[in-house]
Amino acid sequence: MNTDHESGTATPHRVVILGAGYAGLSAAIQLGARLKGRDAQVTLVSAEERFTERLRLHMTATGQRLAELSVPELLEGTATRFVRGWVTAVDADARIVRIDADRADRVLPYDTLVYGLGSVADTAAVPGVDDYAYTLNSAQDAEALAERLAGLARVGGGTVVVAGGGLTGVESAAEIAERHPELDVVLLGRREPGADMRPGARAYLHAALGRLGVRERGGVEVTAVTPGAVELAGGERVAADVVVWTSGTRVSPLAAAAGLTVDERGRVVTDATLRSVSHPEVYAVGDAAAIRQGYGVMHGTCQGGMPTGVHAAVSIVRALRGRRPRPFRFGYYHTPVSLGRHDAVVQFTHPDDRPRRMYLTGRLAARYKEVVSAAPWPTWGRMKKMPASGVFWPRGGRFTRIREAS
Ligand SMILES: Cc1cc2nc3c(=O)[nH]c(=O)nc-3n(C[C@H](O)[C@H](O)[C@H](O)COP(=O)(O)OP(=O)(O)OC[C@H]3O[C@@H](n4cnc5c(N)ncnc54)[C@H](O)[C@@H]3O)c2cc1C
Repeated sequence: MNTDHESGTATPHRVVILGAGYAGLSAAIQLGARLKGRDAQVTLVSAEERFTERLRLHMTATGQRLAELSVPELLEGTATRFVRGWVTAVDADARIVRIDADRADRVLPYDTLVYGLGSVADTAAVPGVDDYAYTLNSAQDAEALAERLAGLARVGGGTVVVAGGGLTGVESAAEIAERHPELDVVLLGRREPGADMRPGARAYLHAALGRLGVRERGGVEVTAVTPGAVELAGGERVAADVVVWTSGTRVSPLAAAAGLTVDERGRVVTDATLRSVSHPEVYAVGDAAAIRQGYGVMHGTCQGGMPTGVHAAVSIVRALRGRRPRPFRFGYYHTPVSLGRHDAVVQFTHPDDRPRRMYLTGRLAARYKEVVSAAPWPTWGRMKKMPASGVFWPRGGRFTRIREAS
């Protein structure tokens, strides 16, 4: 509760959450469930009412229909209200957010901000990508790709180059090859796909891609995308009817423009409790945050993003009750990679993301991956009724302890 010194009246503490992704929505549900009936006003702002299941956008890109998941419906019965709008600016000094809501400019003041605008594929680093390549950045982008692939399939075939040998690239190449066996799928990357997996898991991944007819080329650098081709370092051209860009990620420039301290990739640098190091009234969560753990800065995943949202919400509630926020700790536990709808590899990991000996393959792994991808929505449903059910995740033990500099 804040006190307006001119009128002497008390106004509720205003929490604004930006981005209804895995991290922002976790914060919104937790705050909405924990602050019900208390003196705080919680607002979630995001571009779409429909929840974008990013983990499944490679399925959207191959024409598979996903469930209609409505964010306002999920928030029903909580204290969080939803505002659909595009965030255009954050003024961290005036503590306001500017949004474009149905072409009308709106201003939302905040006392506490949760910044969770996620990340997108880095289409700016290589010339031509913005103009000629498809991405899996949003449901609309994935649907546009699905249409293009279906068009190619209708004319009897063509070559699809998937640029980026990371997990999104592997999942996309496998899904396209399985759904469109008439297309020639080429997977290009700097590193060998599955490079961070144990040899057995990696070998399985290569064999599965081979069975699906994906042609892999690791150790290559794409230097340009042109109409009908990609160019590689050294001058080679690879003909492509469609290029799918999954290489690298970048974040919204809004945090840097607001004067928040950001890292070299534009992510908000946080302290141990997930507050911005320059603006402690701002919490940063998910892919948009640079969160240091004992093993280094976390990389963007859903498995880590959801806990950051929960932790930020719990910290805000603690602060409103006059208690100090606790440090955030998270340890990775798996890397699940789908290889079409019936196959997958799940590499289990140490908390610092190094591979353990254990991995799963085949149908069991595909079922595991499906459980993981489907889990967030029912998890949020449970959190609404029982917020404490959301606070269980691996803390990472000795791997996540940060030693103070002496
Ligand atoms: C195909 C694919 C497969 C993946 N598979 C896995 C996996 O198996 N496991 C895993 O852990 N991770 C996976 N990831 C990564 C995972 O999706 C991200 O790490 C996760 O989505 C990050 O969550 P987030 O909440 O930070 O951001 P997001 O989920 O990206 O959410 C950000 C939200 O902010 C909104 N937004 C952004 N800018 C604005 C703006 N200016 N105004 C209004 N709204 C805005 C977006 O519309 C979105 O709703 C995958 C990613 C892709 C693309």
